[in-house]
Amino acid sequence: MHGKVWLVGAGPGDPELLTLKAARVLRGAQVVMVDDLVNRAVLEHCPDARVIAVGKRGGCRSTPQAFIHRLMLRYARQGKSVVRLKGGDPCIFGRASEEADWLQARGIEVEVVNGITAGLAGATHFGIPLTLRGVARGVSFVTAHTQDDSPLDWTALAHSGTTLVVYMGVAKLAEIRSNLIAAGLAASTPVALIENASLPQQRECRSDLANMHDDALAFALKSPAILVIGAVAASAVMTVHATRSSPGLRSK
Ligand code: SAH
Repeated sequence: MHGKVWLVGAGPGDPELLTLKAARVLRGAQVVMVDDLVNRAVLEHCPDARVIAVGKRGGCRSTPQAFIHRLMLRYARQGKSVVRLKGGDPCIFGRASEEADWLQARGIEVEVVNGITAGLAGATHFGIPLTLRGVARGVSFVTAHTQDDSPLDWTALAHSGTTLVVYMGVAKLAEIRSNLIAAGLAASTPVALIENASLPQQRECRSDLANMHDDALAFALKSPAILVIGAVAASAVMTVHATRSSPGLRSK
């Protein structure tokens, strides 16, 4: 009898941003394979599961993807309920389809459980609406880091009328700035640099396209961080989420 693999989004960091479905699936898991960016606090939902860390941060010591595939397959073939727990949402720069395809081709049942992606949570935590009537007609989630280093269509992005949310961009700020300015986006376009979104140590730096690289250096911006580029990045209009440790949150 085969087990099953759930590809589960753990959300951006705040353990309370985990979905009820993710918590339920974790409670039923026998094996949980966890990525680096997952806040370990969410593991309180699976105290009896075997937890295996399979992180692979860019540039650091990493667990090869092929090894992760084989590990999931081995446990599923033992009939186990396996959760592959990923930061944010598994379908946003999370390789969900790659892993699901590989497992399904080998006869393993796979289910995906969404999570709140870092770009969404980061913006909201600092009062930035990603869409805004009359200001931003949509949002583009892009990564500055591609496997084959193929360029983004900067011209299309610069003229899209959407807010740009850039993942994995910390090391590429100078490049992003010059590409977007060359593509016609105003150098004065507001930018928010958001680090460790939704975690107690979260920080933000407001800047603009022309200055974001220098400002990030002065701020000592570190990964994980997202960049929000667009007129909405000048706002701080909404009531910010309370995190679990915040006094604004009632506890029983
Ligand atoms: N699947 C994840 C993204 C994985 S790619 C999601 O949906 O959020 C990893 C990148 O996500 C990081 O380089 C960073 O750009 C972003 N990221 C993840 N967690 C973050 C956090 N708490 N704060 C800011 N950025 C974060």
